[in-house]
Amino acid sequence: MPDSLRAAIRDVVDFPKPGIVFKDITPLLADGALFARAISLLCETCGGTRIDKVAGIDARGFIFASAVADRLGVGFVPVRKQGKLPWKTRQAAYALEYGEAVVEIHQDAVKPGETVLLVDDLLATGGTAAAAAKLLDELGAKVLGISVLIELSFLNGRAKLSPYPVHSILTY
Ligand code: AMP
Repeated sequence: MPDSLRAAIRDVVDFPKPGIVFKDITPLLADGALFARAISLLCETCGGTRIDKVAGIDARGFIFASAVADRLGVGFVPVRKQGKLPWKTRQAAYALEYGEAVVEIHQDAVKPGETVLLVDDLLATGGTAAAAAKLLDELGAKVLGISVLIELSFLNGRAKLSPYPVHSILTY
């Protein structure tokens, strides 16, 4: 089945800028059986450990994280790009190839001691996931793992996430 998931990821060359091969997940999302399988595999990355919440990263991460939360019967927490969350936030900045980006979380999104699975669609350099995990840490949550559908292993994003178990379904 991971082979059929892999076959449903479309490489789009030079998007959104020259030199990037964008992993387009929309063919996978459009296939109900494949989408359900992807969610099952992401749920299995918990290894049966009880988690209190699933956190997802803006924006494609929301698609997977909210479905995982629903399947596990737990709450969902959004980690958003700057300026999108309406209530009191905590922020973390991280480096991009040029400049920096900021992600935010609501200050009351998790309670101290809650266990959280962090989910995104794709792990590239790891900067986004590291910033999201830092926010959850700072709020007192325990990040039990970081699970992604796709890992671009040649970018070695795992190195930035070393304190956390990282699980990917498809590696490139
Ligand atoms: P990074 O912080 O470098 O790990 O980038 C991860 C974020 O950027 C994820 O939320 C992805 O959605 C997005 N992203 C980075 N590279 C790609 C790519 N080649 N194809 C699709 N999405 C990407």
